[in-house]
Amino acid sequence: MSEKCCNSSVERLTEIYGEDVFSLKVMKNYLSEKAFDSLAATIRDHKPLNATIADEVADAMKTWAVSRGATHFSHWFQPLTGATAEKHDSFISPNKDGEIMLKFSGKELIQGEPDASSFPSGGLRATFEARGYTAWDPTSPAFIRRGENNSTLCIPCVFCGYHGEALDKKTPLLRSVAALSKQVCRLAKLFGIKTEGKRAYATLGPEQEYFLIDREFYEARLDLLQTGRTLFGRRPAKHQQMEDHYFGAIKPRVIAFMEELDMALWQLAVPAKTRHNEVCPAQFEIAPMFEEQNLSIDHNMIVMQTLKDIAEKHGFVCLLHEKPFAGVNGSGKHNNWSIVGPDDKNWLSPGDTPHENAKFLTVICALLKAVDTYAPMLRAAVASAGNDHRLGANEAPPAIVSIFLGDQLTDIMQQLEKGRPNSSKAGGIIEIGVSSLPKLPKDVTDRNRTSPFAFTGNKFEFRAVGSSQSCSGANIVINTIFAEAVDEICSELETAVSKGKNFNDTLQGILQGIVKKHKRIIFNGDNYSAEWTKEAEKRGLPNLRNTPDTLEVIEKDKKYGALFEKYGVLTKEEFKSRNDVYHHAYEMTIAMEANCAITIAKTLVIPAALEYQGVLAETIQKVGSISKKITMLESKKLLVSLVSNVEEALAAVSELEASVASGKSAKKTIASMVKLREAIDALEGIIPKDKWPLPTYAEMMFMM
Ligand code: ADP
Ligand code: MG
Repeated sequence: MSEKCCNSSVERLTEIYGEDVFSLKVMKNYLSEKAFDSLAATIRDHKPLNATIADEVADAMKTWAVSRGATHFSHWFQPLTGATAEKHDSFISPNKDGEIMLKFSGKELIQGEPDASSFPSGGLRATFEARGYTAWDPTSPAFIRRGENNSTLCIPCVFCGYHGEALDKKTPLLRSVAALSKQVCRLAKLFGIKTEGKRAYATLGPEQEYFLIDREFYEARLDLLQTGRTLFGRRPAKHQQMEDHYFGAIKPRVIAFMEELDMALWQLAVPAKTRHNEVCPAQFEIAPMFEEQNLSIDHNMIVMQTLKDIAEKHGFVCLLHEKPFAGVNGSGKHNNWSIVGPDDKNWLSPGDTPHENAKFLTVICALLKAVDTYAPMLRAAVASAGNDHRLGANEAPPAIVSIFLGDQLTDIMQQLEKGRPNSSKAGGIIEIGVSSLPKLPKDVTDRNRTSPFAFTGNKFEFRAVGSSQSCSGANIVINTIFAEAVDEICSELETAVSKGKNFNDTLQGILQGIVKKHKRIIFNGDNYSAEWTKEAEKRGLPNLRNTPDTLEVIEKDKKYGALFEKYGVLTKEEFKSRNDVYHHAYEMTIAMEANCAITIAKTLVIPAALEYQGVLAETIQKVGSISKKITMLESKKLLVSLVSNVEEALAAVSELEASVASGKSAKKTIASMVKLREAIDALEGIIPKDKWPLPTYAEMMFMM
């Protein structure tokens, strides 16, 4: 008898993949040839949407969605909360006889009008102007979100106000992609590459870290429930120091979760590829194959939601907070970024010919210039209360933005700077061909895990994005600062060429100038070391350790807002409104954490400590009264330390309450919270286990 080794869904994997997505393949079966060709041109080549096909597309979408169990549709968008938003409308349309038809019109597909007043807008619109519009983004396919009984057709959308002002994360992202495409095509043209009818775009592969803990522990921790992170908790004897979790054998319960997760993602054509244990116990990672940036970001939003949904089914809770547990690794996203030119090639792949090398080195230099000029903007794109626990707090990566190029590429940059590239560190001969630019080693493989912005062979990996954040912010910034750098390079080249100067010599000169001016941003060493902090300061690189300091820098210096305005990514008002939203979110988060810490301290932990105090005092008195020989010195010491910790905790609570009430400085509130935590964590080390009212770190990290 032959053993059946696979379950049926695995046998059908190729069919299951993308079955819940209204993809080009599906559309072909549901649309007329004319409508299909028109929509495909919009999706593939970003040609303007032909509104006359909207009704047909909507009807096709509905027919397909209903066949997959959908009763509702929803515009699916990304407001400034950082999460996704959806408002469901059913397809039903009753007629006079009380019967229903299932309808979905082109108008409903293209535009929605959710009440915008309850989403953060940073003062862009007053509450009485509640109107907000969602508009279909056809370049990201509609998909099915499955419920317990039925399902919903989700239509990726942008979200804006009455006057077209962006109220979401997708609108500026799409605008930044357009800016990038325009400048890269201009550069391509200078390199003699055909650009007609072509576009350039960014690619993205976001690696996502997360924690899983048992639902019972989660529910017993008010701090996790309310703030997403533990506000108290002693680091257990064993945590991550043995380095035995990273890539270790995955526990069966976790594997079961991951299997279902991958399957759910594959159904939605999210190309989940890699899964593994991360550094900290209870920490894991999922990485997809890279895709075009806009789609990849939508997919990452789906990944975050699916992680939470599937975790729940397995009795887990998925923690996406950047720092759920103090003293051990936090979670981030590695934002793997590259660009594809109008020649359909990855421009961050070193090529074989001097011509391709020139293109590659131009992109590298453009990024050096961009990142050095706008480092605080990049830092601001990932600034949040949660991420502050990682950046600038002894963890990967630091708040100082620098670029890792690796030894070989750095060597080449140094030669470029000297203007006479003639040897390569790798020992190979550098080809001083047409362009007199160095020939590049094929495989630039050295690694540096501590750099915030690392070249990894054919892409840059920006590692500072927080695990709970949308990748939009970071990519809006990378796309735009890159577009400006390319713009300036192109302008210089065009001027020189129009004056009859030699293209290669001019390019060489431009790149040389960039390396000279911006080489301070290159750092290949250990980014965690204290020496780097000092060295970076010498180099004049900013070290923005927290969110308020960062936001202040980009608000004060007008160059940041002007950049986005210049490339049509954000108007001055939109830029300001976003900073206000992020500022406000930061302040609210700190206040919420403080209030939650106060509640836990006063109603759970301190009462337990006081009770134990009484027990201990009584015992000492009772036992001590039996004989003068029983001094109970050590027991008394224990009582003294218990009392002093309780007193410290109570004092810190008062201080924290005052700080919250004054509503003034988040910095002061954070300092008081740290004090309170120290006292409470000390108590956790004294109070009997059965009296301690919270699940411990050891339980949460190891019991699953
Ligand atoms: P790492 O370089 O971190 O060891 P991988 O090479 O597997 O790991 O890539 C990590 C992520 O980078 C994956 O999501 C992968 O799809 C993505 N990636 C690879 N090439 C590119 C590219 N050209 N553009 C964007 N992302 C890419
Ligand atoms: Mg990586």
